[in-house]
Amino acid sequence: MILVITGPGGAGKGTLVACLVERDPSLWLSRSWTTRPRRPGEAEDAYVFVDREAFDANIAGNGFLEWAEPVPGQLSGTPVPNNPDGTDLVLEINVEGAAHVKEQFPDAVVVLVLAPSVADQEARMRARGDPPARIAERVSIGQEEERVGRSLADAVVVNDDLNRAVEEVAGILQRYR
Ligand code: 5GP
Repeated sequence: MILVITGPGGAGKGTLVACLVERDPSLWLSRSWTTRPRRPGEAEDAYVFVDREAFDANIAGNGFLEWAEPVPGQLSGTPVPNNPDGTDLVLEINVEGAAHVKEQFPDAVVVLVLAPSVADQEARMRARGDPPARIAERVSIGQEEERVGRSLADAVVVNDDLNRAVEEVAGILQRYR
């Protein structure tokens, strides 16, 4: 099974996925490649951090399941997975990437995660140190992402309270399993 967690930036997808994977050892979280630099304080293994040349070489070698440009000028992609047998693959990717996955794997379960309000969305991005200009840009991109995401998603989860949202996604997962 492929579980895709998607949604606009600042919806809290990353934290939600981390909690979900921690409580269910049969879930296997894919580590994306990205051309963006590591943020101060971000874990070294949050992504495979690469330069544009290495990213392009991996595209050319068919090394990605999907890739996109979630933030202007920054490419991120899911490497072809090698998750152990008996595990379900979890992807935390943008809406465009989720659409690519759904095209290739119509049975993939797509969960759209939304912040409860624009103010919450902005606050999450500020807290992790995104520059103000980038926050405004991502909020505006996020409105279109929400629209596309709603048309694509098997379920929509509002991330108003982390534990509640994790429970809700776990319930969705159980239903589809
Ligand atoms: P950030 O750079 O802030 O970690 O993530 C920016 C956006 O890129 C988020 O919406 C995140 O879900 C998305 N993203 C991260 N990894 C991938 C990936 O491998 N593929 C796609 N399509 N989007 C990704």
